[in-house]
Amino acid sequence: VILPGIAVKLRPMAPPVFAVGIDIGGTKMAVAAVTRTGRIVARRVLPTEAEAGFARAVSRLEEAIRHVQDEASLQIPGGECAGIGIGCAGPVDPFRGVIRNPYTLTGWDCCDIATPLREAFRLRVVLENDADAAAMGECWVGAGSGFDPVVMLTFGTGVGGAAIVGGKIQRGAGGEHPELGHIVVRPDGPACYCGTRGCLESIASGSAIGKSGEPHGWADARGVFQAAQQGIPEARAIISGAVDAVGTAVWSLAHAYVPQRLIFGGGLMETEFERFAPVMRRLTTVTQFTRDSVSLAKAQLGNDAGLVGAAGLVLT
Ligand SMILES: [Zn+2]
Repeated sequence: VILPGIAVKLRPMAPPVFAVGIDIGGTKMAVAAVTRTGRIVARRVLPTEAEAGFARAVSRLEEAIRHVQDEASLQIPGGECAGIGIGCAGPVDPFRGVIRNPYTLTGWDCCDIATPLREAFRLRVVLENDADAAAMGECWVGAGSGFDPVVMLTFGTGVGGAAIVGGKIQRGAGGEHPELGHIVVRPDGPACYCGTRGCLESIASGSAIGKSGEPHGWADARGVFQAAQQGIPEARAIISGAVDAVGTAVWSLAHAYVPQRLIFGGGLMETEFERFAPVMRRLTTVTQFTRDSVSLAKAQLGNDAGLVGAAGLVLT
């Protein structure tokens, strides 16, 4: 029986697709529309203001998401949004889409971000640790493209780390994120909030370098680097301690993961990579795996790695 009045609709060709990437840090949140080729076509940056409450942050994010979606649909006519990817300062629970980071996001100790965004936009929502999102971004369209496995260290206020193995984010028990910034590099080093002394973060992070410079009157890590550049011995000692710490960490990580590529990102590496690079040449003396099988590179996406990678979580 053929029913009259029912036209068979042909499936339209798949429209060009973009995704929304979100990068949530302690001070600001960035929201972007990112194309299938990893290009940002619209962006909004807003202060996090975590202490003003999670619900308020979510409603401000929703507004920003609508804005970048509208802007993207002007640039990509007919383009459809494939979903929303979020990279957030951890700890996070990637399986439940829950942020549990009261440490740098005041009051956000069990905050489900996936459900409200999924309900508001009727889209797939994925949440990952920001270091994992950045590593995914670099693997997708940056310094890690074509390499596997990849380990990335991000040097900013703290030291973040991520490993991408077989194209996937490496997870520990219960989905926990490998905390590569807290591997011990100097057992008699400064105490860290992670519970031990002398971890990489306690010596080579921006805040650790800044703290070491305080007694000498340097305001922050930048000040210490500048003083070292001018040849001031105390500053040179602090920086050489950080450089040695990174060298030791790289040695350990290279042996643990044998990554085809080890990437160095974050604000500190963006300006100071060359200062750290020579100590990594020690890797050429490794006897336990084929010489040159592990390559080192500076991150290519800069501050956008997390944002692009977050979108990539739903596009790749
Ligand atoms: Zn630590």
